Amino acid sequence: MTQDCIFCKIVTGEIPADIVYQDEQVTAFRDIDPQAPVHVLLVPNEHISSLGAVDNSNAETLGHLMSVVSQIAQSEGIAESGFRLVFNTGKDGGMAVHHLHGHILGGRQMGWPPG
Ligand code: 5GP
Ligand code: ZN
Repeated sequence: MTQDCIFCKIVTGEIPADIVYQDEQVTAFRDIDPQAPVHVLLVPNEHISSLGAVDNSNAETLGHLMSVVSQIAQSEGIAESGFRLVFNTGKDGGMAVHHLHGHILGGRQMGWPPG
C-alpha cells in the first residue's frame, strides 16, 4: 500500500469502486470514465508503479494477472467478440495513474493505430 495511490486505496476498499473480480493477488474494477461499453482496469494488489519498473520478482504476480484476463472477458461478455488489453506506461504511453494497470476494453470495434 503506497500512500496517496488511488488504485492502492481501491484495492483495500478505502475508495469505492465497481469491483468485478478480486483475489489475493489482483483486483479488477470498472473505469470511472469508460472509453468502450466494457472498460475494466486490472491491477496487482501490490503497488508496482508501471511496467517500466517490473523485474523478475514480479513475474509470478503478473503471470497471474494475465491468467485472469480471459475469465474477466468471459464474465463481461466480450470473450467471443474480442477485446483489447492496454498497459499505458510512462509519459509517452499516456499513463496518468502510477500503479500498474491493464485496461480491458471491449464491446465495440477498436481502431488501429492507437492515438
Ligand atoms: P492511465 O491513463 O493511467 O492508463 O489510466 C488511468 C485510468 O484510471 C483512466 O482511464 C481513468 O479514467 C481511471 N481512473 C482514474 N481515477 C479513477 C478512480 O478513482 N476510479 C476508477 N474506477 N477509475 C479511475
Ligand atoms: Zn498503488
